[in-house]
Amino acid sequence: MLEATHKKIAREIAKALSLEEHESSLLEVGSVSPDSWADFPHHRDKESEIEKRILEARARYLENDDECYSVLGIALHYIQDMWTLSPRIEDKHTEWEKRIHLSPILDKSKLKKEIERLVLPKKAKEEYLQLVDRCSSRVNGEQLLSYVFDNYRQTDWSAPVLDLNFAYMSCLEVARNVFLPREQSEEMQRSVDALHEKLDGLSRAHAMCNERIKSLEQKTGGFPRIYFEQGWSIGRFDPQPLFVPSGVPRTRIVDAVQVSNLFGAVWNRAKDDPNERERVLTVRPKQYTSKVRKKVEEKRKHCLWRGKEIEVEREMEVDVVVEFFRLSITGDESYYVDCPSLEIAHYVRAVLTHLDARSSASSLNSLREFPIPLKAEHIRKLLDKYGKDKAEMERERANLQRLQRKMQNVTKEISRKIRYWDNLRDINASLKKLGVYY
Ligand SMILES: [Zn+2]
Repeated sequence: MLEATHKKIAREIAKALSLEEHESSLLEVGSVSPDSWADFPHHRDKESEIEKRILEARARYLENDDECYSVLGIALHYIQDMWTLSPRIEDKHTEWEKRIHLSPILDKSKLKKEIERLVLPKKAKEEYLQLVDRCSSRVNGEQLLSYVFDNYRQTDWSAPVLDLNFAYMSCLEVARNVFLPREQSEEMQRSVDALHEKLDGLSRAHAMCNERIKSLEQKTGGFPRIYFEQGWSIGRFDPQPLFVPSGVPRTRIVDAVQVSNLFGAVWNRAKDDPNERERVLTVRPKQYTSKVRKKVEEKRKHCLWRGKEIEVEREMEVDVVVEFFRLSITGDESYYVDCPSLEIAHYVRAVLTHLDARSSASSLNSLREFPIPLKAEHIRKLLDKYGKDKAEMERERANLQRLQRKMQNVTKEISRKIRYWDNLRDINASLKKLGVYY
């Protein structure tokens, strides 16, 4: 492309983007400088040069450095040469370039009419018509390089007016993006800063929530001892009989051996995970009918005293229905403990849930000595506090997950917000990778 044409395009672009005289002149100077360098050919294999200059121009623009105009001019020069068809016969080239220079810059609809009018094969015509739409569509800085290189013709056919107009359209879009307002970039930075602040707040809340869960885990893990209060009378699972309702034979009561067996089975299934242990243990109400000898009084006619009834005491067997609660492995009743009350069943369940099983043998032995409040109201009180702590723990866990989701969303939002094109740090990092230090 002729020097005069490069200048002409630079001036058109400066006009379209309302650049100041000084800026316009720098753009013009940059637009013609490659022709005084020995880096021919300019019309191909200049992709990386174009990329470097575009990024450098944007970086300089964000830094208020007016050299951005001349640097951009260099990139535009290569793009314009890229759009200059090189005829197969060398001496025709100058002729072609002269005709490019004399061609007018057209708007979208006039250019389409011109394409329709030109003598071109159908396929080439189709391609150019589509290219007009693609080249005249706006892009964001991030997509700028693919805009430049993907919107290039495949056909060998052209006309000087096409070379000029496609070069102009591409260069205008590149320049428009390089000069996207700095305010946009500052605004981006502010909103990203605000998001980072939000993220900090969330992660502080997350840490506190985590601490609370840990302390609740520790507290419930210390069940039952940590919940005992002073002055409570404490008994043990052993020696028997501690919870023998009348009429229930010894085998059907809480028994340290039973508890040890059940714990062994739970340990085999759920190891040290309290939630899993709790899950595998079920409490179910049961009934037991027992024959009990009982003294009854009844009135009977006394044969010696005619007609006179007297009260006589005698012993007889009666059925006694006893309700109890069976704690067993869910879906498997081979290991169980029968407890005389629901509270005690839940108490034993919680004990098994938190029993230190790192040394199961000693734990099983210590179970025989395991303390249990003697008064039912104390067991209830203890289970009530324990239940509240567990409920709070569940709430905090749900809260923790909510916080995690929120943090993920904010992180995503930050990465969406950080527009590469506006982020000077990122642009400079890419330039370093490309070997450009300005
Ligand atoms: Zn050139």
